[in-house]
Amino acid sequence: MEKDKFDYYIKTEKSSWEVVIGLEVHAQVISNSKLFSGSSTKFGSEPNSQVSLVDSAFPGMLPVINQFCIEQAVKTGLGLNAKINLFSVFDRKNYFYADLPAGYQISQYKNPIVGEGEVTLDMPYGSKKIGIERLHLEQDAGKSIHDLSPDHTFVDLNRSGVALMEIVSKPDLRSPSEVNSYVKKLRTIMRYLGTCDGNMQEGSLRADVNVSVRKKGEKKFGTRCEIKNVNSIKFMEMAIDSEAKRQIELLESGKSIEQETRLFDTKNNETRSMRSKEEAHDYRYFPDPDLLPLEIKQSFIDSIKKKLPELPDEKKDRFIKKFKLTPYEANVLVSEVDISKYFEDVIKNSDIKLAKNWIIVELFAVLNKKNLNISKSPVSPKNLASLINTISSGEISGKIAKKVFEIMVETGDEPKKIIKEKGLKQQSDPKELEKIIVKVLEKNLDKVSEYKSGKVKLFGFFVGEVMKATSGKGNPKLVNDILKEKLK
Ligand code: ADP
Ligand code: MG
Repeated sequence: MEKDKFDYYIKTEKSSWEVVIGLEVHAQVISNSKLFSGSSTKFGSEPNSQVSLVDSAFPGMLPVINQFCIEQAVKTGLGLNAKINLFSVFDRKNYFYADLPAGYQISQYKNPIVGEGEVTLDMPYGSKKIGIERLHLEQDAGKSIHDLSPDHTFVDLNRSGVALMEIVSKPDLRSPSEVNSYVKKLRTIMRYLGTCDGNMQEGSLRADVNVSVRKKGEKKFGTRCEIKNVNSIKFMEMAIDSEAKRQIELLESGKSIEQETRLFDTKNNETRSMRSKEEAHDYRYFPDPDLLPLEIKQSFIDSIKKKLPELPDEKKDRFIKKFKLTPYEANVLVSEVDISKYFEDVIKNSDIKLAKNWIIVELFAVLNKKNLNISKSPVSPKNLASLINTISSGEISGKIAKKVFEIMVETGDEPKKIIKEKGLKQQSDPKELEKIIVKVLEKNLDKVSEYKSGKVKLFGFFVGEVMKATSGKGNPKLVNDILKEKLK
């Protein structure tokens, strides 16, 4: 099957197919303690060292709701432009598994804390709104460890009871790249808000991916399959692609799609059936009798709203208007709070146009190569600003600046110091330059006469020779001007 490069339809010999995707994203709430107990949520601790009697479901233990987690969910809801429900209910979702000591998970079902909202994606073909169905709070389960012993499974309950937000999208996504952009946008919003760290390696953000296909132009949705627990954006994209192709092949050979839960096998790049609809769990949801319905006041929501930081979309609009950035540049520079802060620090006292390019091109390349977060950048905003100012003032050329920057990356030194120590200052004395230029021309009399008889392309050659003679330090504009004058 050929994939169309210009839109998201998958074309086969027989027809053109549209992929429909809806995501259930599980985001771990940033909170020191769990949703219904005081145990720590710290990642990577000794197994079963952060387990209270509530988390291990001892008889008679009662859950007590953690108000901070409620605030975090409301904050996230506001960041998703969603309706916050003043009344919500915690339900028991019943199933049996070794890592679920209570035999049920406390979750929200019919009455979630956050209702409908929306998130805006910036795609190459324009901006697109993705609907949010709801956001509900629930507890995480423990972890079963199957690979430590051939005949035993170990259970670590540290994660048991940690607060998760499940963010359910409408089936509005249409391609792997839209899903990529959607998950990144959710992550950016939650990181701005400080409600989820979005760390996918640690499992703080993972998703169930629902996929169906329909023929281009068709109104009705196809039957969906749900791919469980995908923990990287790349795997989500791969899983969607392979699942869509699997469904298309089935439909084109006259078969039908069975609604089922599947797993993505990353090694073989294919999804595999986990359980079909008939085997689907009946969770026997009912309101948890240990917890009263959660009622919050509008004033509680308003006080959270007042404290919200500037969100990525707002920041982006401000950057475009105030600093005349393109939407692409603004997107890149607001993608993380720390990046936007770095940018704003640099342009406090340097040229915006140079600053954005130096950050997006040069600095990002270095950070990528060294696998560093911008907050750990070897080049401080102050030093980058000062480098940019030496370019603006003509003290050094852009080319030399790159050399200086390389040294800054390795040493963390100020540019002025490097320029002085290495003698990199631009040669801007016209008299000195003229002397050098005259010498260069005298050495190349044959080329000079060729130039004068019409081979004007040789101008670049002369510039190159002069630059060589000045070890790259000749002020380019002056070199050009003087050369032109001399070659007249
Ligand atoms: P369930 O509990 O059965 O998984 P949810 O309501 O929690 O149901 O989630 C359903 C998810 O499936 C939502 O993200 C929704 O957008 C998505 N979805 C629903 N219908 C389709 C469809 N036909 N194709 C793809 N995704 C779908
Ligand atoms: Mg589901």
